[in-house]
Amino acid sequence: MPRNVSHPDEVIVLKRRFGQGATNIDKYVELDGYKAVQQAIAQGPEWIINTMKASGLRGRGGAGFPTGLKWSFVPKQSEKPKYVLVNGDESEPGTCKDHVLFLEDPHAVIEGTMIAGLAIGAKLGFIYLRGEYRYLLKIMEQAVADAYAKGYLGKNIFGSGLDFDVVTQTGAGAYEVGEESALMESLEGKRGVPRIKPPFPAVVGLYGGPTVINNAETIASVPHILLMGGEAYAKLGTERNGGTRLFGISGHVEKPGVYELPMGYSMRKAIYDVAGGVKGGKKLKAVVPGGSSCPVMTADELDVGLDFDQMAKAGTMLGSGGIVVLDETVSIVEFALRVISFYQHESCGWCIPCREGTDWIKKTLARVYAGGGSKKDIDNVEYLADNMMGRTFCPLGDAAAMPTLGFVRKFRKEFEDYVEGKRAGTPVMNEVELVGAGH
Ligand code: SF4
Repeated sequence: MPRNVSHPDEVIVLKRRFGQGATNIDKYVELDGYKAVQQAIAQGPEWIINTMKASGLRGRGGAGFPTGLKWSFVPKQSEKPKYVLVNGDESEPGTCKDHVLFLEDPHAVIEGTMIAGLAIGAKLGFIYLRGEYRYLLKIMEQAVADAYAKGYLGKNIFGSGLDFDVVTQTGAGAYEVGEESALMESLEGKRGVPRIKPPFPAVVGLYGGPTVINNAETIASVPHILLMGGEAYAKLGTERNGGTRLFGISGHVEKPGVYELPMGYSMRKAIYDVAGGVKGGKKLKAVVPGGSSCPVMTADELDVGLDFDQMAKAGTMLGSGGIVVLDETVSIVEFALRVISFYQHESCGWCIPCREGTDWIKKTLARVYAGGGSKKDIDNVEYLADNMMGRTFCPLGDAAAMPTLGFVRKFRKEFEDYVEGKRAGTPVMNEVELVGAGH
């Protein structure tokens, strides 16, 4: 049974969890809820954006773009309506943090959406949940209805003369719509494939209007930042990486769960001190540090701080905060096959390097895993992944190629063991076995 506990010293975004009942609007208000939005109304857009810039908050979806800067790109004047879009399409394997916010603190997501709207001059916000989170939609919809009933949403919010509406929406279960422009297509009722950029959403976004898109955790952090002050929030993290963030630590650890840790916190400590170390006292073999698209780390590479810059320097990524720990019993070849199978399954098929590359890598790895491969197959997997990098319309191509390169380059000996007959997996894996029945 997963335990969800926070690091005791740095609880910001998770402060209303642990069964405090913050899904109830009165309880949320009692716990300082809807205070930040009133402060934002009183202080105005420039103050909101400056506070966000001072906070050093970077997008928690994975890209790590500074939030205040993103908001400042939206033109002040626009003939078309502006929109706020909350990306809750959390589909990266290994990632389950936004789920906690929808489940236990839905009003924080709503309040953050309102503040983002005030900052850019939008009157309408959309909260988009992944299709598999349909059961959380009820909680979000109830929270939105309660906010309307209290007069917090709708016309003349908090007597300000300003209007703000919130609409919820679910996807249909495609990983691809986590990409911001594909998400806008999906929300507009079209097939969820990415748009060519530029123009960027801040200028031409949803329904052609200027749009701010932020991850759900990013948005839920906003009310806390306004109440505590941008500088105070920034100080919790490291330089250029302000505050705390949520990490979903899963796999072979004693205490899997969603934890809030300061940016820059040690990866080693996160696994051993916070998540209780490797399950059953086994040896740690590898870590996927930020969701399945991030290049794997070996057991010798864990002395690194969990922030965007330190992880990039270490040759990998902080990503979406989904840390997956693999113990010594895991076959890296099988794991690589499962990861590429997911991306092959989720490729929208628009561009050839992604559509064909993921398919060829999957077929080749399946052969290697079944014991029928050759050393040339290992070279081909590396060659294919290398040639996908930077040659696709959207980041999914890189997301499939990067982990593949990491597995082959860091664990090549294990791949060679399979082609030399020293190890062998099962000869056939069908689609359900490879990517799970939910996909
Ligand atoms: Fe579609 Fe893959 Fe190309 Fe992205 S990279 S547009 S998912 S085919």
